[in-house]
Amino acid sequence: LPVIRAQSSHDYVPDSKFYKVEAILRPWRVSQVSSALLKIGIRGVTVSDVRGFGAQGGSTERHGGSEFTEDNFVAKVKMEIVVSKDQVEAVVDKIIEEARTGEIGDGKIFVVPVSDVIRIRTGERGERAEKMTGGWSDLPSSAA
Ligand code: ATP
Ligand code: GLN
Repeated sequence: LPVIRAQSSHDYVPDSKFYKVEAILRPWRVSQVSSALLKIGIRGVTVSDVRGFGAQGGSTERHGGSEFTEDNFVAKVKMEIVVSKDQVEAVVDKIIEEARTGEIGDGKIFVVPVSDVIRIRTGERGERAEKMTGGWSDLPSSAA
């Protein structure tokens, strides 16, 4: 499968220090995506089981059988990852690389500005709360 990158766009609107990368994925690709993210230091990830309906109208996947539910919504996983602005593109590209099959139903990624991050245990806010020990910014390669 050829490598696909998100077309370049560095001006997220509105501007924010943090963004939430929200990806709707095929459930059977989720562990592959999350382990690849872990390798680049993304340790904070939330996933939910969701059901969705996309442009495919289910037509291709319907014939695949098991993925389809009675009401024609397809079982998907929503992955939510809050990162600092400079990490967004790498996370988006990594998700594409690991989640893409090239078939209809691969999913979609939304980038959403996040106003603040607060760590409940410590009350830290902003950068201090967003940074994970042993995460991206602690990796030797993160200077890039
Ligand atoms: P602590 O040091 O107190 O453990 P933490 O920053 O490591 O704080 P946790 O309390 O361990 O955060 O995280 C609880 C849950 O919050 C995680 O299981 C995950 O679902 C979610 N989460 C944490 N950070 C992020 C993030 N950056 N993006 C998305 N979800 C996150
Ligand atoms: N940006 C954080 C860090 O540099 C990692 C964010 C995350 O794991 N979601 O440590």
